[in-house]
Formats: sequence, C-alpha cells, structure tokens
Amino acid sequence: MTNQILIVGSGVNGLVLAKVLQQRDIPFLILEKNSQFFENPERTVALTNDSIRFLNALDKNLDINAWATPVNNMLLYQDTELNLSLNMDEQKISTICQLDTLHSQMRKGLEKTIIMGQEINAMKESEGSITLHTVSESYKGAMAFGCDGINSSLRGLSEFVVDEWYYGQKAYVALVEAEHKNEAHQFFSQSGTLAFLPLSLDKQYYSIIFCTNVTTDPLNELNTLIKNNAKHLSIGEVKSISGGHDLKHHSAKSLYSGRVVLCGDAGNSFHPMAGQGLNLGIGDAMHIADNLDKIISGNLPAMNDYSAKRNAKNAQMTWIIQSLFGAFGNSAGLSKAVLNEGMKFLDKFPKAKEKIIEFANKN
Ligand SMILES: Cc1cc2nc3c(=O)[nH]c(=O)nc-3n(C[C@H](O)[C@H](O)[C@H](O)COP(=O)(O)OP(=O)(O)OC[C@H]3O[C@@H](n4cnc5c(N)ncnc54)[C@H](O)[C@@H]3O)c2cc1C
Repeated sequence: MTNQILIVGSGVNGLVLAKVLQQRDIPFLILEKNSQFFENPERTVALTNDSIRFLNALDKNLDINAWATPVNNMLLYQDTELNLSLNMDEQKISTICQLDTLHSQMRKGLEKTIIMGQEINAMKESEGSITLHTVSESYKGAMAFGCDGINSSLRGLSEFVVDEWYYGQKAYVALVEAEHKNEAHQFFSQSGTLAFLPLSLDKQYYSIIFCTNVTTDPLNELNTLIKNNAKHLSIGEVKSISGGHDLKHHSAKSLYSGRVVLCGDAGNSFHPMAGQGLNLGIGDAMHIADNLDKIISGNLPAMNDYSAKRNAKNAQMTWIIQSLFGAFGNSAGLSKAVLNEGMKFLDKFPKAKEKIIEFANKN
C-alpha cells in the first residue's frame, strides 16, 4: 500500500497540484517526459485575479503582482472599429506574465520532486494502487493526476471519452517593443483574432497572440493586419513569429476514470482567444484543493462532483468561445452585425461591463 500521489506532466497545472500536495505534506512525484524544460520567451498568459490570489496563497514567494504586468483596460475591435472597452476604476482586469517566468518561479521548492525524461506510455490499476510505466521505469502510487496537456497519454491509456474538433486556425506569438499604457487590444476579423497584451520586462512590449486561418504567409498577414487595423498602436514591422500549432478544442466527458483524475489541458483545452485555458486549469486545482482528502482517497461522490462542476464551467467557456468564433469567423455577416451592435450596446452600461469583468475573473 502506498500513499504517494503521481502527477504526470510538469506544465503549470502539474506544478500547481504539486504545490497543493506539498502544502498538505502529502508525498508526490512529478513525472515529466522531456529531459529539459524548453523555453519560449514569447509565450505569455493572462491570469485572472482569482488565479493570482490562489497561486500567491499556495506559495508566498511567488508574489506574482511584483513582477507581472497589470492590464487596466481591454479594448475590443471588430476589424478597425472599436466596439467595447472593458475597465473598472482603479482595478486591474487581468495580469500578463511570461509563461516561462511563471513556470520557473513555480518550480522553486519542487526541484527534487520532478523526474525528467519519464514518458508514461503504459499503466496498470490494481486494488488500492496504480502503476505507471515508462520504457524502463515503473512508478506506483495511490492515484495519478493527468496533467500531461492537450495530447494527454494518460487520457488515452485510461480510455476517457473525449469530444474534439479543430478550428482550422493556427496560433502564432511574438513580442514587439511598444509603449503599452497597460492597455490590451483584441481585434476580431474574418481571418482570425489578434491580441496585443501589455508586458513590462526590461522594456515595455506587446505580447502578440495571433490566431489565423491564413496558411500561405502568416507573418505577412500579421503585418498587413497591423498596418490596416492597428495603426494607432504605433508598432513597427514584426520581424518573426513562432508557434503555428493547429488549434483544437477537446473536452473529456468525465474528468476521472478509476484512479486517474484529469486536470488542466489534459481534461479540457480551449481556443486562446478568451485567454482562459490556464485559468480554468487552475480552477480545476482550486476545486481539487478544496476536496483533496476525498479526491485522493478515490471517494466517488467527490470525483463526480469535481467532474460535473468543472465540466459545467468548461462548457460555459466553450459556449462563449464558440459564439465569438461563429460570429466573427462566419462570412454570412448577420451574426457579426448583431454581435457588433450588442458589444456597442454593452459599452454604454458600466454595470454590464463590471459583470463581464467579474465573470472573466472567476475560474
Ligand atoms: C498562444 C496561446 C496563448 C494562450 N494564452 C492563454 C492566456 O492568456 N490565459 C490562459 O489562461 N491560458 C492561455 N493559454 C492556454 C494555456 O497556455 C494552457 O492552458 C496551459 O499552459 C496548459 O497547462 P498544462 O499544465 O495543463 O499543460 P502543458 O503546459 O501542456 O503541460 C503538459 C506537460 O506534460 C508533459 N507530458 C506530456 N505527455 C507526457 C507523458 N506521456 N508522460 C510524461 N509527461 C508528459 C509535457 O511535456 C508537458 O510538460 C494559451 C494557449 C496558447 C496556445
């Protein structure tokens, strides 16, 4: 009999769960398939106020607000037209950080518990335990958290039932120097979405997240969009972009099966236009933290509750993303016009905007 918990995947969600277990003195191991952490300084994430509160409480040394960039205003455009500006007096509406920095800060104190170069490719459950296998090693635990991302092996090995579809778009990222005034801008156009997120490092930058269905020359497409739609941001030409992943949505119908519980992208992944994928993963970890003893002891009502509540939240986000995607990516134009008017209408009502900001900040 072992009471060790296995965490598969050392992405941010794996590290968050590790910190939850560490705080409660529960033994755990993190198994990571890569033999080193890859860096991509251009990748950023927008964190909700809920995420920041939770992460800072898990580890006081994290102190995210001390090094991340607050967003005080978010401006949403349809092509060139400004439709909605989301802001609240003296309150930030989101916070931007480099994914690498967040990851390296979260690793502190967990170094000895992460085993690199361990790709899980088989598993076996028996009475009271689960054993995970790589080509050469085996690890036994009381249960396993699948935090192994969008193409989760654990999800496949445990035969979870999954809904999935592709958006026919790829996501690219870039960093460009720019005076950002702590404002974020998001443009919706027929070819995709283009976000400029403020990021302060040694200098001020916009972190660009560009999701497009144009495959011929995405860099050229990005520069054309900037020239035509975002002139007022005074950004020079973007010289290079990275990424180019096919954007896929998937959601596991149940978030547990036997002794495996999925968390983060392994359970649900989203189009980045709403900037919510990681926040919802952190929301999964919040729920697990609140019900930890029951979940790690395999209590069925607690696992059902986790799966039902988190999937309800995930379905809500999927619905919002699908509505935006359908409205802007749809050449019929009618839904686009309705949405456009709806956004402008909302812009006139501070209370409605407050509600949107409040909703977007709840994991
Ligand atoms: C362009 C872009 C912008 C985004 N912006 C935002 C944003 O603003 N806000 C937001 O909240 N979210 C955002 N997201 C989503 C967010 O980045 C992800 O939801 C989040 O990083 C997923 O973390 P994770 O830990 O679940 O998975 P991952 O980071 O994918 O980690 C999974 C880990 O598991 C390991 N692994 C995989 N298979 C195995 C195996 N068989 N054995 C062992 N280890 C394995 C992998 O090597 C990896 O280290 C964005 C996504 C994209 C693409």
